[in-house]
Amino acid sequence: MKQIGTSLEGANARTAPVFDPATGARTAEVVLATVKDVDHVVETAATAFLSWRDTSLTARSRILFAFRELADKHRDDLAAAVTAEHGKVLEDARGEVARGIEVIEFACGIPHLLKGEFSEDVSTGVDASSIRQPLGVVAGITPFNFPVMVPMWMYPVAIACGNTFVLKPSERDPSPSELVADLWRDSGLPDGVFNVVHGDAEAVNALLDHPKVAAVSFVGSTPIAKHVFERGHASGKRVQALGGAKNHAVVLPDADLASTADALIGAGYGSAGERCMAISAVVVVGDADPLVEAVASRARALRTGPGTDPTSDMGPLITRVHRDRVAGYVDSALADGAVIVVDGRGVAVPGGEDGFFFGPTLVDRVTPDMAVYRDEIFGPVLSVLRVDNLDEAIELVNANPFGNGTAIFTRDGRSARRFRRDVSVGMVGINVAIPVPMAYYSFGGWKQSLFGDAHIHGMEGVRFNTRLKSITTRWPDTDGPTGAPVSSLHFPSGDNG
Ligand code: NAD
Repeated sequence: MKQIGTSLEGANARTAPVFDPATGARTAEVVLATVKDVDHVVETAATAFLSWRDTSLTARSRILFAFRELADKHRDDLAAAVTAEHGKVLEDARGEVARGIEVIEFACGIPHLLKGEFSEDVSTGVDASSIRQPLGVVAGITPFNFPVMVPMWMYPVAIACGNTFVLKPSERDPSPSELVADLWRDSGLPDGVFNVVHGDAEAVNALLDHPKVAAVSFVGSTPIAKHVFERGHASGKRVQALGGAKNHAVVLPDADLASTADALIGAGYGSAGERCMAISAVVVVGDADPLVEAVASRARALRTGPGTDPTSDMGPLITRVHRDRVAGYVDSALADGAVIVVDGRGVAVPGGEDGFFFGPTLVDRVTPDMAVYRDEIFGPVLSVLRVDNLDEAIELVNANPFGNGTAIFTRDGRSARRFRRDVSVGMVGINVAIPVPMAYYSFGGWKQSLFGDAHIHGMEGVRFNTRLKSITTRWPDTDGPTGAPVSSLHFPSGDNG
């Protein structure tokens, strides 16, 4: 059996199984790090920081360019590694890799991104400037659903800023991170700047408690995000913790029916709904029947199958337990009085009888009190809620405790503007179902979808990964016309000049 990772515990180390979700077969075991293992990795990263922080911006950006070239060359290998352990279809995995590479490309511009400010003569003979300095060791803790892209939201920016990085990827799909570590090594990055430690809660908590970890970027479910935020803060770290989601698409009566239905199919069922930006609730203003029919006919035509089969639209879910949990939500919706229009329970996949497949599911006449609406399901289950007007739709979206992404479908600019302005959600799409910001903007939700102030990548990423220092400078001109400065007890200000 393939073994991923190592431990100072040797043969006594704990391990976790890794599966191919399309067949249900156990393909590897991942070694779970202990507190001692984490300490060893953090000490390595802390030592590497001492010289990496002194490496010039030009040298850093050249290494990032080399890493970008290698990631580009190995796009297909990275995508294949994602599909093998996550299960998503290859084309979708390629898309994830492409979005990750865009963050490396953003970070290649670090000499420009890190430029400080300078003001001459803020007072007579006094200049003011600001610089951004690296933090030290930054830890990244990531979820299973984007094993390449989400870590790439973090480490290119952290490393470009002069930090060293410890990645703790999901133990469900650990292999892509091993490949990424090889690419960093081949790009000329000094040892100890990028590190991978595999593990579960024990490793995460060891990182959160370690005195030499300066900052933590976390992406995962809301309860763990909250835990990471609170425990990381308690030990004095800077923390950004992105959590779960329940994303709504609001559809107004004037929306284009066919293109809206197409967009909802991609947003609801892409990656089998295992995306934090997946749409899981469609809020229809007015008569919902035509849209329900248009989505249902498209959903019935989708092909669920192995991610490696180019004819598959949707791959399996991550584990058997998760598949059964998703099925439980559909059972509960039926019991609560909702209408199951398309039922993905028991989907037949020839040859995939032991895989963790779940077909596209459409549930109509859902109400906000039902569990199928309240909870994040993280599967291919699209719920339809019916409201009478835009006010009611906005109220519904804003009452939800999550605030990651949302979208409105309409031809009316005034309604779209009102929605954009009044909705309490971090990322908004207007006739765009999955409004994931580009690498040079920043990704992040509101409310229970993000704990901490900073969104991820883009300039918010640069700010999160650096500490601001402001400098005020005077070179006393004792021989000049004003003579030596006279001591004063006044609080200094520009007026004193
Ligand atoms: P998860 O919260 O179970 O795991 C995330 C990370 O936390 C993993 O590395 C895991 O090892 C670790 N972890 C798990 N249990 C822990 C514990 N008790 N203590 C400390 N660490 C623990 O999430 P997941 O199931 O891997 O991923 C799916 C979730 O991630 C969904 O809720 C999804 O919405 C969310 N997500 C959010 C975003 C975002 O940008 N907001 C992006 C992707 C995924």
